[in-house]
Amino acid sequence: MRLILLGPPGAGKGTQAQRLVAKYGIVQLSTGDMLRAAVKAGTPVGLQVQKIMASGGLCPDELVVDIIGQRIDQPDAHKGFILDGFPRTVPQAEALDSILSEKALDLDAVIELQVDEGALLRRIETRIADMKARGEKLRDDDSPEVLHKRLEAYRQLTAPLIAYYRGHGMLRSVNGMAPIDDVTKAIDEVLAAGGAKAVASKKKEFSA
Ligand code: AMP
Repeated sequence: MRLILLGPPGAGKGTQAQRLVAKYGIVQLSTGDMLRAAVKAGTPVGLQVQKIMASGGLCPDELVVDIIGQRIDQPDAHKGFILDGFPRTVPQAEALDSILSEKALDLDAVIELQVDEGALLRRIETRIADMKARGEKLRDDDSPEVLHKRLEAYRQLTAPLIAYYRGHGMLRSVNGMAPIDDVTKAIDEVLAAGGAKAVASKKKEFSA
């Protein structure tokens, strides 16, 4: 099973990815997590991206494509993976297509978590306030200003992926504003129906 979860920051991609990991025994590949680990470890990549991430901008395409290309080759990803936070631009999606076709792999589905941006902002602001109240450490990019910038980057650079994957017959959309369990159920239904592969093979049947 190979999936992409698409949606703006705070849409619940990480939560749903963790559930899919538990259910299908596949790995979650979050470029955000990998880059944060690089920043924490002070690697050359970490030093390169630290400021970009703290400001809410996007890291260079070649850098993240390289990271994902290498990560997909690791043995634990052979059974399948969920990409969370990647691709984030059309050039990244095109690079992913080439990486997968070189390895003769394909995607089962691209699942878009559809959310209302106003409600999303309120949801994230509440989460930040709750974390502060509990005295928990916030991420460097957990501030309303940075959040606005991250949403802006999503609108400009990542949202075009919806049309990209729709055009490739891969896109499945679920309501990301529903309660978490309902979102999980909707994703399960998409996958039980065979994801995008089922639709592609039906299309073939009809055109045959
Ligand atoms: P995330 O945890 O997915 O929200 O990612 C946190 C930050 O990491 C983003 O705001 C970007 O600065 C950077 N990042 C993560 N994934 C990517 C990506 N695919 N392309 C570019 N930058 C990324």
